[in-house]
Amino acid sequence: MFRAYTIDLYSRLLLLWHKMNPTCVFCKIASGEAKANIVYQDEWVTAFRDIHPVAPTHVLIVPNKHIQSISHAEPEDEQILGHLFTTARKIAEMDGITEGGYRTIVNTGAHGGQTVFHLHMHVIGGQRMKYPMG
Ligand code: AMP
Ligand code: ZN
Repeated sequence: MFRAYTIDLYSRLLLLWHKMNPTCVFCKIASGEAKANIVYQDEWVTAFRDIHPVAPTHVLIVPNKHIQSISHAEPEDEQILGHLFTTARKIAEMDGITEGGYRTIVNTGAHGGQTVFHLHMHVIGGQRMKYPMG
């Protein structure tokens, strides 16, 4: 309860900060302006290792185009959104976690626990995931 409240507050403050200061760390990583451990890149997406991994494989896949969240995705973004999934498949194969299985997560907004306001898909694996979620 307290943890959910703290995450909610943190997320809202970050969104406010982002609106006042529209620099986006994932845009900077995708353009090469900021450093990251990039594992895959093409004309649509960039994939890099999360700085705070929660499992042996924890990769973030971001569209190269700035889309704030699922709530801001437009019909013309459908090719990019689909490409996130086929890239997740590629990452899983690269890290050898296809057979064991993995989890893909896209957090949206404060209640979804989104803390970086550039749409991204987490690919998490290499160990059995906990369930239930939420
Ligand atoms: P979310 O809570 O879904 O918005 O996830 C944001 C994720 O981005 C978190 O797991 C962070 O650890 C990760 N993250 C934030 N900044 C960076 C960065 N510069 N490089 C790699 N991962 C990052
Ligand atoms: Zn961005």
